[in-house]
Amino acid sequence: MLKLYEAADRIEAQMLKDFLLEQGIETVLLGDYLSGAAGELAANIFPALWVVNEEDLPHAKILLQNFTNNRIQTVGETAWVCPKCGEKVDAEFDLCWNCATPRRR
Ligand SMILES: [Zn+2]
Repeated sequence: MLKLYEAADRIEAQMLKDFLLEQGIETVLLGDYLSGAAGELAANIFPALWVVNEEDLPHAKILLQNFTNNRIQTVGETAWVCPKCGEKVDAEFDLCWNCATPRRR
Protein backbone atom coordinates (compact mmCIF):
# COMPACT_ATOMS: atom_id res chain seq x y z
CA MET A 1 0.00 0.00 0.00
CA LEU A 2 1.09 3.55 -0.69
CA LYS A 3 0.01 6.65 1.13
CA LEU A 4 -1.83 9.05 -1.15
CA TYR A 5 -3.18 11.87 0.95
CA GLU A 6 -3.53 13.12 4.48
CA ALA A 7 -6.94 14.69 4.88
CA ALA A 8 -7.87 17.58 7.13
CA ASP A 9 -10.78 15.67 8.57
CA ARG A 10 -12.71 12.46 8.35
CA ILE A 11 -15.47 13.90 6.16
CA GLU A 12 -13.00 15.06 3.51
CA ALA A 13 -11.20 11.73 3.62
CA GLN A 14 -14.44 9.83 3.17
CA MET A 15 -15.53 12.06 0.25
CA LEU A 16 -12.24 11.47 -1.50
CA LYS A 17 -12.39 7.74 -0.81
CA ASP A 18 -15.87 7.51 -2.39
CA PHE A 19 -14.74 9.64 -5.33
CA LEU A 20 -11.74 7.38 -6.03
CA LEU A 21 -13.85 4.25 -5.69
CA GLU A 22 -16.20 5.61 -8.38
CA GLN A 23 -13.14 5.80 -10.64
CA GLY A 24 -12.26 2.21 -9.79
CA ILE A 25 -9.44 2.90 -7.35
CA GLU A 26 -9.51 1.04 -4.10
CA THR A 27 -8.24 2.89 -1.04
CA VAL A 28 -8.25 2.39 2.69
CA LEU A 29 -8.71 5.06 5.30
CA LEU A 30 -6.23 4.81 8.16
CA GLY A 31 -5.78 6.93 11.20
CA ASP A 32 -9.26 8.07 12.02
CA TYR A 33 -10.18 4.88 13.86
CA LEU A 34 -7.63 5.87 16.50
CA SER A 35 -9.57 8.94 17.51
CA GLY A 36 -11.95 6.96 19.70
CA ALA A 37 -9.24 5.13 21.59
CA ALA A 38 -6.49 7.72 21.77
CA GLY A 39 -8.43 10.34 23.72
CA GLU A 40 -6.58 13.65 23.86
CA LEU A 41 -4.05 12.49 21.25
CA ALA A 42 -6.82 12.43 18.65
CA ALA A 43 -6.36 16.07 17.63
CA ASN A 44 -2.95 15.27 16.16
CA ILE A 45 -4.09 12.33 14.09
CA PHE A 46 -5.32 13.03 10.60
CA PRO A 47 -7.07 10.38 8.55
CA ALA A 48 -4.82 9.25 5.72
CA LEU A 49 -5.87 7.64 2.48
CA TRP A 50 -3.76 4.75 1.22
CA VAL A 51 -3.93 3.28 -2.28
CA VAL A 52 -4.30 -0.49 -2.14
CA ASN A 53 -2.79 -1.26 -5.56
CA GLU A 54 0.51 0.50 -6.13
CA GLU A 55 -0.05 0.72 -9.90
CA ASP A 56 -3.12 2.89 -9.23
CA LEU A 57 -1.08 5.59 -7.52
CA PRO A 58 -0.23 7.80 -10.55
CA HIS A 59 -3.87 7.78 -11.65
CA ALA A 60 -5.04 8.39 -8.08
CA LYS A 61 -2.77 11.43 -7.81
CA ILE A 62 -4.29 12.99 -10.93
CA LEU A 63 -7.79 12.34 -9.62
CA LEU A 64 -6.81 13.81 -6.27
CA GLN A 65 -5.69 16.98 -8.03
CA ASN A 66 -9.02 17.21 -9.88
CA PHE A 67 -10.84 16.61 -6.64
CA THR A 68 -9.07 19.41 -4.77
CA ASN A 69 -9.31 21.81 -7.77
CA ASN A 70 -13.05 21.23 -7.99
CA ARG A 71 -13.45 22.03 -4.34
CA ILE A 72 -11.56 25.31 -4.75
CA GLN A 73 -13.75 26.24 -7.72
CA THR A 74 -16.90 25.50 -5.77
CA VAL A 75 -15.74 27.77 -2.98
CA GLY A 76 -14.98 30.52 -5.52
CA GLU A 77 -18.55 30.41 -6.83
CA THR A 78 -20.18 30.85 -3.46
CA ALA A 79 -19.49 34.58 -3.19
CA TRP A 80 -18.63 37.64 -5.24
CA VAL A 81 -17.12 40.96 -4.23
CA CYS A 82 -19.02 44.17 -4.88
CA PRO A 83 -17.02 46.39 -7.29
CA LYS A 84 -18.35 49.54 -5.64
CA CYS A 85 -18.08 48.99 -1.90
CA GLY A 86 -15.97 45.84 -1.74
CA GLU A 87 -18.45 43.84 0.33
CA LYS A 88 -18.56 40.10 -0.08
CA VAL A 89 -21.96 38.97 -1.37
CA ASP A 90 -23.33 35.43 -1.47
CA ALA A 91 -23.61 33.86 -4.93
CA GLU A 92 -27.42 33.61 -4.86
CA PHE A 93 -27.77 37.43 -4.72
CA ASP A 94 -27.41 39.50 -7.88
CA LEU A 95 -27.40 42.80 -6.02
CA CYS A 96 -24.96 43.90 -3.34
CA TRP A 97 -26.76 43.68 0.00
CA ASN A 98 -24.88 46.77 1.18
CA CYS A 99 -25.19 49.30 -1.67
CA ALA A 100 -27.47 47.53 -4.22
CA THR A 101 -24.88 47.56 -6.99
CA PRO A 102 -25.70 44.86 -9.55
CA ARG A 103 -23.33 41.97 -9.91
CA ARG A 104 -20.88 42.30 -12.79
CA ARG A 105 -20.83 39.15 -14.96
ZN1 LIG B 1 -21.73 47.15 -2.57
